[in-house]
Order: sequence, then C-alpha cells, then structure tokens
Amino acid sequence: MSDQQFPGLSSVIIVGAGPSGLLLALLLAQLSPRPNITILDAAPTLNEAPRATHYGSPSIKLFRQVGILAEIRRDGYMPEKICWRKLSGERITGYDRSLLHDGGLDGDGLTVYWVGRLCALLERELKSRAGISVSWGHKVTALKCGLDPRDSSSSVAVEGPNGQITTLTADYVVGCDGGNSTIRRLMFGPRNFPGFSWDVPIVATNTMIDLDKFGWEDTQFIVHPEHWFMAARIQPHPDPAQNIWRISYGEKAGLTNEELMARQETKFSQMLPGCPQPRAYKILSKSPYRVHQRCVTKMRMGRVLLAADAAHLCNPFGGLGLTGGIVDVGALCQCLSGIHSGVCDDDILDIYCSVQRGKWHDIINPVSTANIRRLFLQDPEKALEEDEMLQLILRAETDLELSRQLQGAGNELIYDYTRHFHHGRGGVEGKARL
Ligand SMILES: Cc1cc2nc3c(=O)[nH]c(=O)nc-3n(C[C@H](O)[C@H](O)[C@H](O)COP(=O)(O)OP(=O)(O)OC[C@H]3O[C@@H](n4cnc5c(N)ncnc54)[C@H](O)[C@@H]3O)c2cc1C
Repeated sequence: MSDQQFPGLSSVIIVGAGPSGLLLALLLAQLSPRPNITILDAAPTLNEAPRATHYGSPSIKLFRQVGILAEIRRDGYMPEKICWRKLSGERITGYDRSLLHDGGLDGDGLTVYWVGRLCALLERELKSRAGISVSWGHKVTALKCGLDPRDSSSSVAVEGPNGQITTLTADYVVGCDGGNSTIRRLMFGPRNFPGFSWDVPIVATNTMIDLDKFGWEDTQFIVHPEHWFMAARIQPHPDPAQNIWRISYGEKAGLTNEELMARQETKFSQMLPGCPQPRAYKILSKSPYRVHQRCVTKMRMGRVLLAADAAHLCNPFGGLGLTGGIVDVGALCQCLSGIHSGVCDDDILDIYCSVQRGKWHDIINPVSTANIRRLFLQDPEKALEEDEMLQLILRAETDLELSRQLQGAGNELIYDYTRHFHHGRGGVEGKARL
C-alpha cells in the first residue's frame, strides 16, 4: 500500500453518547476510509432530562456539515424575538431577529430543538449511515494506558450490563462523558476541575402554559434579585395554551433537591405573569441543577482527549454550554481528519487543547458569567443605566448592522485548524477534510 492508503487514524473510542459524543461519532464516520468507531455509554438509554434547546450559529454550521440541519429545522423552530423584562413584565430591551431576514444570518440563525431529539436523530443517523450502534450500559471504569506521551495506543476498562469487565483499545480515547466525567477524573484526579460553582441552584422545567396572552415574546429573561428566570418558547403550537416553554429559574442557596422540587408551584405563582395556580399549566418535566464555571487545565494527555462538558462547564443562560461542546467536537474532528490523511502530526492535538481552552476562557466563560449575573446581581430599575450590554442591545433595536454583529458574535468560537496542515505532504490534504 502507498502512504495515501494508510490512514493515520484507524480507531477511536468515544466515551459518552450525549450530544457531543454522538456528533463526534457521526463526523468521524464521514472520514474515508472510515476509522473503527466505538461509542460507549454507562446509561441504559438516551438522557431525556430538560437540558439544551437553543443552538447558535457555530452549532448550526456543524449540523449542516453533517447533513442533519434540514430535519432539525423541520421539527424545531427559529425564535424571532428575545427580550429582557422586569418582574412586572415591563420590557427593558431586546432583539427582533425578523428584522434581519435579509441580513445573512438566516441560514445559520438561532434554532430551537430539544437535545433529547437531537441525540435520537444523531443515534439514528449513525446507525443508518455507518452501521454504528451505541453500546448502552457500558461504563468506562479505568484507563489502562494512553496517558503517557510514549504510548502508541490507549485502552479503557469497560464494565458491561452484566458486570463483565472487558478491555478495549484504540488509537485515541475521547472523553465526551459530561460534567461528572470519569475520563477527566482518571486524567487529573477526583477534584481537579478549576473554576467555581454558583451558590444559587436553578430549576429547569418544560411547561405547557399560555404566556402569549400576556404579550410575551419567544424568549424573555427576567431581571430580579429573587425571582430571576428565563421563559423560552421551545415548542410553538397554533393554540397558545398548548405552547411548551422552557422555564428555568434561580432558587435560594442551600435547599435540597426535594425542597427545590416542592417549591416549584409557589415559585410559579410568585414569578409568572397572572400568578398561575397549577391548574393553569402542565409541567412536562422538571429538574434541579447546580451550575458551574469550570475548565480543565488540559484537554489532551497522550492519547486521551476531552471534549464538551467533560472539559468545561458554564451556566445555561445564553445557550453557550453545548454550543461550546459542539465547537470542540468540530475542532477535534478537523484535527483527527488531518492526522487520518497524514497532513499533520498529532501535535495538532496540543493546538486543539490550547485553542479550545482559550475560547472558553476568552469568550464562553466571561459571556455566560455576564449573562447570569445580569439576571440577579443588578437592580432591574437601573439595568438600562448601568448594564453596558443592555445599552448596546437597546442601540441595536434601531441599528441593524449592530444587531447583526451582536447576534453573529458566536462565530468567534470557530477556529480553522487546517491552517496547521502541511500542504503537499502525502498529497492527500483535503481528501478527508471536513
Ligand atoms: C437546564 C439546562 C439548559 C441548557 N440549555 C442549553 C442550551 O439551550 N444550549 C446549549 O448549548 N447548552 C445548554 N445546556 C448545556 C447542555 O445541555 C450540555 O452542555 C450538554 O448536554 C453536554 O453534552 P455532553 O455530550 O458533553 O454531555 P452529556 O449530555 O452529559 O452526556 C454525557 C454522557 O456520558 C455518559 N457517561 C458518563 N460517565 C460515563 C462513563 N464512565 N462511561 C460511559 N459513559 C459515561 C453519560 O451517561 C451521558 O450519556 C443546558 C444545560 C442545562 C442543565
């Protein structure tokens, strides 16, 4: 065989079949020749908890690249109006995306699609296009080798559904195993995840309720020191009473999960317009969450890599959590495709580590921190006087160029790794490029 026929990447083990692991598997399945892809998940099946719903431009670009955007757009929807309000309902300021329809953002515009549906779609595509099935009920418990830079492969110990332990080996292991990542703990120890956790927990609900009768828009962020929350339409319906909303609100520090759940009816009656009693709405799902701002010191050790929540966390206000994870996965796939086609060395994975961590520190962490602080750490009556971001959004209401810039800012998360490819080497650059 010539060099061109020898891929530099023959196998990858992906730990975690959440959205990031599944998307990475589908992206890698596009490489030719296709490497051996194993995807393991400790859970018995897909996670249906109320989590990501909103995807910004970097995610949309990747969904298009992997060929799933049409289905997402068909079954999801594109919200048009986003605003900030006081608890009284008084509007502070906001965006109207419909004004930008001819402005070039339409194609990559913010799209709402439940993460459970995204995972089901990715799992189905992986099976039908590449014949790859997720190994549910397979928990990675140990890394047997791969952390040493001299290792030529990486191995994991896996506990199967009946408790049987097997060892699997591949060129690389990628930890996409979420915020409590086992792979991260095996790399750095149980407590080494720099950053902090917010004192205030949040409760996320999917709720069927009529908020249109109060003139509410697709998404509103309520600024208030105690009753701060977000209400975002996540499934429109011709009958406003059947719209489904993601209502996520902040709670008092120090409450147990049981106490958080028990307070939900009272919180709704205190914070939602019309002070609704339970008969006025239907809770479809609800879950308490602790929120964090954390990022690992390295996303690569030897032949073991981290991506998405396993590597970094942020609070969910502003939808940067999974967006950051999807950007990692796109970046990692670009790097692995370069290794696969012989146009770069695996040093590119050190660049992956430094660039993706930089994006979290320079953009995701400060922006998401400002997003949550805006909701409860300022006086709503002075928000427009003191909050520079709200002032900018107010200006953007009449300055469409500014509006376009603000709403397209997420694209700064994307980095083109092909600039590090050795053009000409082996003559195959671009062949497996994504
Ligand atoms: C309320 C809420 C709302 C959010 N909204 C948004 C939003 O609108 N937009 C956005 O971009 N982000 C949002 N996020 C963040 C987003 O949901 C997460 O960033 C995303 O789900 C993380 O995906 P992941 O694939 O990295 O991890 P996960 O989805 O956590 O998946 C990890 C998988 O790894 C498996 N696993 C764990 N340990 C092991 C092991 N040892 N062996 C094998 N498998 C293992 C788990 O079973 C799980 O299936 C939100 C989060 C919350 C809490």
